[in-house]
Formats: sequence, structure tokens, C-alpha cells
Amino acid sequence: MSTDAPHADDLRTEAASLDEQHEATDLRARFLLPDGVVYLDGNSLGALPRAVPAAVRDAVEQQWGRDLITSWNLHGWWDAPARVGDALGRIVGAAPGQVVVGDSTSVRLHQVLHAAATLRPDRTVVLADPATFPTDLYMLDGAARQLGWTIEHVSPSDAAARLGGTDDVVAVVYSHVDYRTGVLWDLPAVTRAAHDAGALAIWDLCHSAGAVPVELDAHGVDLAVGCGYKYLNGSPGAPAFIYVATEHQAAFTNVIPGWHGHAQPFEMSGDYRPAAGIDRARIGTPPMLSLLALEAALTAFDGVEITEVRARSLSLTAFLRRCIDELVPGTTYASPDDDASRGSQVAVRHPDAYGVVQALIARGVIGDFRTPDIVRLGVAAPYLTHADMLTAAVHLADVLTSDEHLDPAYTRRSAVT
Ligand SMILES: *Cc1c(COP(=O)(O)O)cnc(C)c1O
Repeated sequence: MSTDAPHADDLRTEAASLDEQHEATDLRARFLLPDGVVYLDGNSLGALPRAVPAAVRDAVEQQWGRDLITSWNLHGWWDAPARVGDALGRIVGAAPGQVVVGDSTSVRLHQVLHAAATLRPDRTVVLADPATFPTDLYMLDGAARQLGWTIEHVSPSDAAARLGGTDDVVAVVYSHVDYRTGVLWDLPAVTRAAHDAGALAIWDLCHSAGAVPVELDAHGVDLAVGCGYKYLNGSPGAPAFIYVATEHQAAFTNVIPGWHGHAQPFEMSGDYRPAAGIDRARIGTPPMLSLLALEAALTAFDGVEITEVRARSLSLTAFLRRCIDELVPGTTYASPDDDASRGSQVAVRHPDAYGVVQALIARGVIGDFRTPDIVRLGVAAPYLTHADMLTAAVHLADVLTSDEHLDPAYTRRSAVT
């Protein structure tokens, strides 16, 4: 660390005191992270929970290796999508029996969009945020072409105004947290506005599940999806999840009616009859190793309320901002200042954001670049400390004062940014 930064010592003292204050929610011991790394990309690929290697080893060596196909019963493979769904449900405020795990977020989006069409057959307009993650827009585009829908691009902040007094909207399809700016949208208010207009509220929780309280049941969300590999730390490409509120399950039509969602899959009937309850959202055989990795990963949240994770996250992101403000004066942000509308990341704007991120990575501060100008610093609260926040800010200051980010080694782009 450089020692000439004006307030670095004060900040170091403050970091230590904040870390002491938040000691009860420091879950770093539940994760395996390399030394010397400040990992600020848990919103893209969560860190490895300590419980996962042994669980995967057991799944491979004992369950697959020795118990072979008997594991479908013996080790509960068949029930795993709903069992892991229930465990995940606790983290997003869903009572048991409303979440199943498997497939990707993109596939799950396809399912909820088509289900929405059968729940609101007389309507044709869907509201979507044009700034949302591209796959959400692509899946929506595809569904709209198949279903004869019109997509209206309306920011979540303008949804209530658009919805008021209308009866043409099928659903709002929004991401709870903007993946780029980190804006946390007002899920309760937007959901209420949708319901007042007879529309469904569909939420993508990729950037909120495991990071901020969602409370799906309490807010009456109709349908939701999210991925398992970000703040839930489920492993690279971990299965996604789908939430179907109990009240909609009887009328939920699965556009991909695979045999795992059948009422009696081992009747091997030629006719599809949907299972009762959330099982009807299942499709085909899930990637079991990934699913069991996710199950073990979720134990990292055992004994912790998501409100506590959120309190830690807000303290961390606020402190990171303060450190950057002190050490890199004049920084501009895409992420909000106020706690209520900030997700679990700090997004710094910089014209050479790509080079800045690469230079930071070379120094062991791993964030990511989001086009066109964002240095995205994701803050997965369970395994990060206030001291980490200061370290990141010090390195950012050092990179910028030494123009390291302009080094051609850091400005050449790789396939994955
Ligand atoms: C990460 C993310 C996805 C990922 O979709 P996959 O099909 O799992 O690749 C989708 N939507 C949002 C909002 C995301 O942040």
C-alpha cells in the first residue's frame, strides 16, 4: 500500500473498527479464497464455499462412483431440484414448495414468460427495462414473437406511471438489481403497481439473490428467476432457479414440458400430465454434480439472515465509496449513493475502465469491466471485509496515479471481459 495517500491511516483505523463492529457477519472462514486477493467479482462468479469440495467429492466418488444409479433414491437425486429450491427459497423469502432449481436463467426466463401468457391470455403488452442484462431482452424478444406481444421499454422507475389505470399489460419483467449500475429497484412498489393494473410481476433475481432481501412471498411476486453462480456461490454454470407463487401453480403451464415435470414420470406414459405443485416447473434431468455443489454452497448462509448480509453489504459498499472518494477525488459513480437504492456493488465510471480493471486484477483486486465505461466492484458481503475495501481503493488510486491502466498489456481485450 502507498503511504502518501492523505487519509489512508485514518481509513485503516476506521476499517479495523468497522470490521470489529461487523464481526458477527464475517463468514470468510466459510470460503476458500486465495491469499492476497480481494475478490470483487462475486456478482459474476461467487467464491468457492468451503463445504463444496467435500460435497462434490462425495457426489463423484461415493454417489456416482459406488452407488451408481441407486443414488437417484439412495442419495435423493430425484428430489434434489425441489429440496435445493426450498433451501434457496429461504434466502429469497419464499416458503417451501415454490422454487425449483435446474437449467439456466435464460431457460427459466423462457418458462416464466410463456407461463405469464397463459395466466393473462387477453393482454399483449410487456414492460421491460432496456438497460437490463441482454439475455433477458433476447428471451423476451423471442417470446414476444411467439406470443404476439408488444414489448414496451419502460424503466422500473416509470412503471407505475405507465401502468396506472390501464388493463393491457401482461407483466412487468424486471431485474431486481441492475447488473451494470447496481441500482436496486423498488420491487415492492413496482409489484404493487403491476397488481393494481391486473398485471403480473416477474423479477429476475440474478444480482439480488444472496445479496439483498427479496421477500418474494411478502411482496406477492408472481414469478421469478435467478442464477445460482453469482451471490449464491453455486459453482461455475450452477443451475438457475424458478419461483412460481403457490397461487399460480395450478394454472402454471410449462412451455418445456419435460418428463421430470410429469405427475408420474415412471409410468412412462405418452401423455404429458403436469405434476402438482412446483415440480411441474421441472424439465429434464438436471446437472446433478452442479446441483449438489449448489446445495453445499447454500450452507454458507446457514444461521444467517439475509437482512444481516444486507447490513454488512451496505456498510462495505458505503465504506468502499468513502475510501475511493478520499483516495481518488473526483471519481464519478454509476451506482447510487443512497443505501435504499444501492445493490451490493460499487460501479465506478472511467473512460479507460477496461485497462483500469486489468491493472487492478494484476494487483490482486479482481473486479470486472462492463461496457462502455464501468469498473464494476461487486461486494459479496459474506467473505469481504472493510479492510478489503480499503485495499481495493488504495490499489485503484495507485493504478490511476501511475497511469498503469494505459499500459498496452492491460488494454488488449480478452474474449470474456
Ligand atoms: C447473470 C445474469 C443472467 C445469466 O443468464 P444465464 O442464462 O444463466 O447465462 C441472466 N440475467 C441476468 C439479469 C443476469 O445478471
